[in-house]
Amino acid sequence: MTPETPLQTAKQCRHYAMCKIDFLGTGLCPPGQKKHYVSYFPQGRMDIYAALREDKIPVTGRLVDIADTCTLCGSCDKQCYFVTELRPLQVMEALKEYVASYLQQNKPVAQSEDDPILGEFQGIVGKEWASSDPAVLISYAHDPGPFTGTQLPKYVVLPESTEEVSRILKLCIRHTIPYAVRGNGSSVMGFVFSPDGLVLDLHRMQEIHIDTDNWLASIGPGVSAFDLQKRVSEYNLRANVAEPAALVCANLMCSGIFSTYSNTYGTAADNYVNAEFVDQEGEVFTLNQRQAPNLFAFQPEELPAPGICTRVDVRLHPKTDDEQGMLIPCSDFVEAAELARDLAQRRIGLALAVLGLEYISTFISPTKEIAHRIKHAFRHDLGLEYAVLMIGDRFDAQAVKSLGIPVIDQKLLSLITLGLPRLIEQEWLELLREGEGRLRPYEILCRPEMMPVLEAALKPSPEALAGAVEPDLQGFYRELYARPEMTDIVWLNDFRIVSSRMGREKHIVAFIVYVPLDKIAVVEQLNQEFYRIAEEHAIKNDYGFLTPLDLGKRAVLEYDYYMDQTDQGEIERMQKAVVAAGQMLEGMMQEHAGVRWIKYVFNQGFSRKESFLYS
Ligand SMILES: Cc1cc2nc3c(=O)[nH]c(=O)nc-3n(C[C@H](O)[C@H](O)[C@H](O)COP(=O)(O)OP(=O)(O)OC[C@H]3O[C@@H](n4cnc5c(N)ncnc54)[C@H](O)[C@@H]3O)c2cc1C
Ligand code: SF4
Repeated sequence: MTPETPLQTAKQCRHYAMCKIDFLGTGLCPPGQKKHYVSYFPQGRMDIYAALREDKIPVTGRLVDIADTCTLCGSCDKQCYFVTELRPLQVMEALKEYVASYLQQNKPVAQSEDDPILGEFQGIVGKEWASSDPAVLISYAHDPGPFTGTQLPKYVVLPESTEEVSRILKLCIRHTIPYAVRGNGSSVMGFVFSPDGLVLDLHRMQEIHIDTDNWLASIGPGVSAFDLQKRVSEYNLRANVAEPAALVCANLMCSGIFSTYSNTYGTAADNYVNAEFVDQEGEVFTLNQRQAPNLFAFQPEELPAPGICTRVDVRLHPKTDDEQGMLIPCSDFVEAAELARDLAQRRIGLALAVLGLEYISTFISPTKEIAHRIKHAFRHDLGLEYAVLMIGDRFDAQAVKSLGIPVIDQKLLSLITLGLPRLIEQEWLELLREGEGRLRPYEILCRPEMMPVLEAALKPSPEALAGAVEPDLQGFYRELYARPEMTDIVWLNDFRIVSSRMGREKHIVAFIVYVPLDKIAVVEQLNQEFYRIAEEHAIKNDYGFLTPLDLGKRAVLEYDYYMDQTDQGEIERMQKAVVAAGQMLEGMMQEHAGVRWIKYVFNQGFSRKESFLYS
C-alpha cells in the first residue's frame, strides 16, 4: 500500500534510522543533530505525530519544541524516498500545523510532574539530557517488529562519557530501575525497550580516533557504520561494517558484524582489538585486562549482555587502488553457491556473496515499480536468478575473467543501472531473448561487443534514472545519480546505502543462519523450508544472500520475510511464520553440524567466530 495521508506515512516508518546519518550529502536533520534524542529526528517525529493523532500522548512542552524546531528543510524527504519511497515532509508539516492549531485554541500544554529520580539522572548528565516527557518516551517505545508492541519507558537518558554511563547504572541499581541500551534502534526486534524503566541512548558518544600505526579506529558507542567508514576512507582504509545506520558497538554486541567482506575480514571477534565496557554493577573493564570477563567464549544459549560497550578499537584494513567489483550472473542457486565457495577456497576475492534477485533488483532500482519490473525481466527475459558478487583487486578480477564465464563488470553495471528505465522495455528485452539460441540471454548481455549496442539502446544517464522518481524530486536525484559512487560496486559495498531498500516495499524480518558451505544441499533445504513456511502463511518471502566465511568452509545465509507493519492480519501471520521457522531451524541445527541460527549469538557478538561456527 502506498501511504496517502500524513498519518499513514507516519505509521509506515521502518525505524531503520537512515535519517540519523547523512548518507546522501543533504546534511543531517538540523534539530536532530543538535538535540540527539531520536524524537528530534524525522523517525521520532513520525512516531510522535502518529501517537498525537491517535490520542496516545498529550501536547507537552517538549512536543511543542520538537514541532517548532523542524525547519522544513526537506532533507528527510530526499533521504527517506531513496530508501522507502516515503515522503515524511508532509508529516513534519502536519505536525507543525496540528501543534499550531492546538496552541491557537489555547488548549493546555501538559507540564511534567516533579520527579526526584529524573532530577538525579539530570544531575549526572545535565538537565537537557534526561527526560520523562511523553513526547520523548513515545519515540523510544516501539519498532515494526512483529512481536514488539508498545513498551513505554519512564525515562530516556543520553550520557556523554563512560563515567556518566557508570553513574547511571549505579543509580539504576540503587533505585531498582530496569534499563535497556539503545544504539540507533535498527535491530527492530524489540531489543531496545524498557517498559517503565530507563532507555540509555548513546547517540552523544561519537568520538572517533584513528591510529594508523596500529590499524585501529578507537570509537565511542554513538558512532555509526557510515560515519566510521567515511572517516577511515580518508586514510584509504576500510572497516568491516554492515548497515550504515547501525552503531558499530551495538552491531558488534548484538550479533557480531557480518558483511560481504566477512569473506576475508571475518566476523565477531575478528573485527576488533580491544573494547571497554561498563558491567552490570556499573564498574568499568576492558577486554585486555587479565581478570576481565571472557567475552571471546561462546555459549549456545541466549545470554544477557555482559554490560554496556563504551569504546571499541575497531580493526582497519588497507585498500589497494585497483579494487573493482563485478557480478557473475547464474541461473540456479547450486551453481552460484559452488562458484562462491570455489572462489573463497582459492582465496579469490576480498568480498564475496551470492545475491538473490530480490536484492539485486531492489538495490539498483530507484522505485518499487522499477524493482518489480526489473526482477521480472531478469528472471523471465534474461534467465538470471542469482549473481555472485566479487570485489577484489586486478589479480582477482583477472582470475574470475579467466574462468571464461559471463561477468557484469563495473562498466556494464553502471550502464544497466543508469539505463534501467529503458532496459525494462519489452522490445529491447525481446532482442536479448531471441538472441543466439545456445546462449542464455544474460550471457549475450555480458558479451563485450554488446556494450556499444547497449549504450545506444539504453541511453544510460542520471537524467534517465532520475526520471523514474516523483517529479519534484527529480532535480535532486539527477545530481545524486550523477555521482560516480552511486553506481560504484566497491563504494556501495563499503557504505551499503542501498541495502536498507530491501525494506522498501514492506518491513523486513530477516533470518540469519550460519551454514556449512561444503554441504550446499543443506543450504538449499533451508531455503526451501523458509519458502514453504512463508507460503503456508501467505507471507512475502525471498532468498537474501549468502557470504562465504573462513575460506569457504562456512557461510552466513540470510532469508527474508516481509510484512506490512500496519496490517494486523499480516502481523499475526508473520508471528506464526516466525515461530514455525524457528522450530524448523531448531530441527536443522540438531540434524546438521555447522547450522547455527544467529539467535544464539545474540549478545555474544564479541565472541570468537570459531566458537560458534565449529561447536
Ligand atoms: C535492513 C537491515 C539490514 C541489516 N543487515 C545486517 C547485516 O548485513 N549485517 C549485520 O551485522 N547486521 C545487519 N543488520 C542488523 C543491525 O545492523 C544490527 O541489529 C545492529 O546492531 C543495529 O544497530 P543499532 O545501533 O541500530 O542497534 P540497536 O538496535 O540500538 O541495538 C542492538 C542491540 O545491541 C544492544 N546495544 C546497543 N548499543 C550497545 C552498547 N553500546 N553496549 C551494549 N549493548 C548495546 C541493544 O540493547 C540491542 O540489544 C541489519 C538490520 C537491518 C534493519
Ligand atoms: S524537514 Fe524537519 S524533520 Fe525533516 S530533516 Fe528537515 S528539520 Fe528534520
